[in-house]
Amino acid sequence: MNIVNGNISYGKHVNKTFERCWPNFEKLSIKRPNMQIRQMKTRWGSLSPNSILTLNMDLVRAPKECVDYVIIHELCHLQYPNHGPGFYKLMESVMPDWGRRKHKLDFSVYTLYPKC
Ligand SMILES: [Zn+2]
Repeated sequence: MNIVNGNISYGKHVNKTFERCWPNFEKLSIKRPNMQIRQMKTRWGSLSPNSILTLNMDLVRAPKECVDYVIIHELCHLQYPNHGPGFYKLMESVMPDWGRRKHKLDFSVYTLYPKC
């Protein structure tokens, strides 16, 4: 996996997180995305149409379980581009406690960023 624009230790941390999350999606026959880490002002993560998963550099300060949540959320977008019922069904099956993690991320770490 390519980590560009990121610092190395965070890159390793994120790589490990990605490897932990990815097996849930392998079976969906979707293409494995590349990742990059950047300073982002308004979102925790995003997924570009050419399958590049971008993570906010500030997640380095977030609890690990919340970083997992952001990666899982973006990986679900590989299958469902929008936040429709299918998206949440997949999210629920991969990470049943995603709501708790999201809450933790939104309210305990930063409140200045709107949700993705
Ligand atoms: Zn989203």
